[in-house]
Amino acid sequence: MDNRMYRPENIRKEILIVEDIELNREILGEIMAPDYNIHYAANGQEALEILRERGRHLSCVLLDLIMPVMDGYQLLEIMHGDDKLKDLPVIVLTSEKSAEVETLRLGAVDFIPKPYDSPEVIRTRVWKNIELSEKRMIVQSTERDPLTGLYAKDYFFEYAEQVRQYDLSRSIDAVVIDIDHFRLLNELQSREFGDTVLKTIGESLKVSLQPGIGIACRASGDTFFVYRRHSDNYEELHRKLEEDLSRLSEVARIRFRVGVYQNVDQSLSVPHQFDMAKYACDSRSNDFNRNISYYDTELHEKELFEEKLIHGIDEAIQDKQLIVYFQPKFDITGEEPVLSSAEALIRWNHPQFGMVSPGIFIPLFERNGMIHRVDSYVWEETARLVGQWKEKWGITIQVSVNVSRIDVYDENLRKRMSDLVERYGIDPKDFLLEITESAYSEDVDQLMAALQGLREDGFRIELDDFGSGYSCLSMLSTMPIDVIKMDMSFIRNVEKDERSIRMIELIMEIARFLSVPVVAEGVENEEQYRMIRETGCDRIQGHYFSRPLPAEEFEQLLLTEKQIVRP
Ligand code: C2E
Ligand code: MG
Ligand code: MG
Repeated sequence: MDNRMYRPENIRKEILIVEDIELNREILGEIMAPDYNIHYAANGQEALEILRERGRHLSCVLLDLIMPVMDGYQLLEIMHGDDKLKDLPVIVLTSEKSAEVETLRLGAVDFIPKPYDSPEVIRTRVWKNIELSEKRMIVQSTERDPLTGLYAKDYFFEYAEQVRQYDLSRSIDAVVIDIDHFRLLNELQSREFGDTVLKTIGESLKVSLQPGIGIACRASGDTFFVYRRHSDNYEELHRKLEEDLSRLSEVARIRFRVGVYQNVDQSLSVPHQFDMAKYACDSRSNDFNRNISYYDTELHEKELFEEKLIHGIDEAIQDKQLIVYFQPKFDITGEEPVLSSAEALIRWNHPQFGMVSPGIFIPLFERNGMIHRVDSYVWEETARLVGQWKEKWGITIQVSVNVSRIDVYDENLRKRMSDLVERYGIDPKDFLLEITESAYSEDVDQLMAALQGLREDGFRIELDDFGSGYSCLSMLSTMPIDVIKMDMSFIRNVEKDERSIRMIELIMEIARFLSVPVVAEGVENEEQYRMIRETGCDRIQGHYFSRPLPAEEFEQLLLTEKQIVRP
């Protein structure tokens, strides 16, 4: 990297004139003196001394070729091999046409023929070359990501475009590498450790991308892009990265995902090609067994499907294609299970695809940030119905709604929630907010503050899918929560796996320590129910008791249930 200094416009620039014949030196000096501060050297050796001392202050060197002690060729050669000097523009003063190619090869940027032309022409040439080199310098200083030394994204796209244009028949792959839970890594280890991880990936990529193979950039905080010659084998790249990262820490296993779009369609723009690689990369978010995902026709179909969902969401809300279902929760602490509350779960009755499960579209809207539109709708519908049942039948039922991680970072969440329950005459303590555990791995302080605020307003917080995510136990003790909802996976394996029942018992112990009740969700049969009951679990939600029901059916259930437990 060029380390010459940027100078404000009004400071005179410095140049160096290297010429053994005194008269020539003086003539050139006269020509340049009005615009520049000038250093003189009578041969290469003298010039080198000045360069070593003033190098970063100099804007240009005017260099004679034939000189005693050290000639111009030798000096050029030395400058060419010196990182600090190699980008300083050198204009060669020559009377020999034949010298031009050789000096160009050695890095000269231009020539001034002897005998000297008009002063104006010489001054313009010097000025032009200085300007060009300064522009190049600015480019160089923004071209690279300072931390990893890889390209910055804008330049990367530009160069990738050039690679693409250079040979349209060549097969090229777009590769995206994304670190899992990088924020958590920063938080649990340290920011320095996070930086080291990024640098290590940068180094590893540089090594694997020998010149001519491809280029790489850091595209965002923890995402890297690689544009390279086609390869059939990305296992090797993955293995190498894993190996380099494993040296950094004995405790932290750093996981990352790789998405590859092979043999890119050259008619697409480079950013679009990377969208596809990124899509492949994200598509395996929850699949720990697959290290590398490739963009293929199946994924393409999925992407088209998801695009239709994204474009259809406004219409879906308007036309009431989005329907809120209620899945009852039963209290099992007494002799008989008693209806105690319900979870509002969204369904999408899509005109083309039929019933679409939230497992498909919720993660999609969480990724693109549109989830708040869906959630606002669900909260409103739920509150409206609960208010209606209360008014119509005098029945107060506690409900829970799901709150996505992105909702928690909405500054207006508190006000929105309070306005909502007030509008429908609901006591906030009957409106539970289910927060998924994955939310807990993001900005912890902000999350705590948000939850604390909601609790001050009377809402209760239910920690959803406990045990599936990344919350650590130390966080749990300070976390403002009122109910723990055990992840379904424990219940699913409870009959066949001794460890699951141990885990459930452990969760029960944690909950008792925190004095909060536990809900087991996903109980599907008698055996599971019996086993869960024995652990002392408080509530159950699952197909064994009831599937999620449309509002009218749930309303009927409310009316037929003999008693409803008041928590
Ligand atoms: P969740 O909040 O953990 O909801 C529980 C899921 O388990 C629901 O799936 C429910 O139908 C399912 N389930 C309940 N009992 C059983 C059982 O016995 N067996 C099996 N196999 N499944 C059972 P669903 O409705 O497909 O929702 C999936 C996820 O989508 C939810 O997980 C929640 O994270 C999200 N979700 C649903 N509605 C909303 C919403 O309105 N907003 C947000 N942000 N997320 C929602
Ligand atoms: Mg839930
Ligand atoms: Mg859950």
